[in-house]
Amino acid sequence: MSLFDFQEKFPDNDSCLLHLAKLKWGDGYTCAKCGHDSSCDGSSPHSRQCTRCRYVESPTAGTLFHKVKFDLLKAFWIVYFLATNKKGFSSTELARKLELRQKTCWKFKRKVMKAMKSSGKHPITGTAEVDETVFGQQEEGVRGRENAKKKLVVVGIEKKGKGVSRLYARVIPHADAACLGGFMKDHIDPEAKVTTDQWTGYGPVAKDFPNMVRIPSGKKGHNFPELHRTIMMLKAWLRGIHHHVKDLQDYLDEYCYRFNRSFMKERIFDNLMLRMVKAPPCLVKNISG
Ligand SMILES: [Zn+2]
Repeated sequence: MSLFDFQEKFPDNDSCLLHLAKLKWGDGYTCAKCGHDSSCDGSSPHSRQCTRCRYVESPTAGTLFHKVKFDLLKAFWIVYFLATNKKGFSSTELARKLELRQKTCWKFKRKVMKAMKSSGKHPITGTAEVDETVFGQQEEGVRGRENAKKKLVVVGIEKKGKGVSRLYARVIPHADAACLGGFMKDHIDPEAKVTTDQWTGYGPVAKDFPNMVRIPSGKKGHNFPELHRTIMMLKAWLRGIHHHVKDLQDYLDEYCYRFNRSFMKERIFDNLMLRMVKAPPCLVKNISG
């Protein structure tokens, strides 16, 4: 969706409410309170009222747009910017563009980032590579051990030709079989030809991946050039916009979300909107102030 298309489709708050109502009830209405499937217009714009229990539901209820304290249109703009800009936007940039407070943008952006979390429905297939890396000031020598200032991250890629067509990353407490295997089972198809190095943590994982290949670890970056180039780009992005990375996993999810959709850009805004609307209730609760 181009900037022009966006502006034309969403000129005001009302058009945004209407869009949310369509996303929520386009496939049919179900009362959130009693489960009844018939409704009439509610008192507020684009709301629905259950014809059995009279419960009125707004289009934002139960979505990540609920109780947003600023114009819905501006919230839509934030989703649009975060979906379509290759590198995303910092809350400071968003605040400047939309004439909002930085803290306000930061809070809402955190919600959008939660919606970007992998659904786990699109595992890596074909040729895969997995390795761990350390995020933090110094980046060597803590393999397998915990370190307060550093975060251990396991990264998996799907290779296509000389490029990378899919990427997942997860913060893990230890580089052991439970953490590495858990990540691989969640994000890699068991039939994939997955390559790792010979770190002991990968040993027990091999039984779940019959086509797994383990090669001796050479100099870092030597064995897995595409994987390490991808990791370098991810780290550069993090250094570029985010100075204090407290919730590293959310930032990894944001980066991977856009990365994995770089080949289907025209659908990315619609996809993210749907995720904002269909967000599970626990997601709404988990957003820290
Ligand atoms: Zn009802």
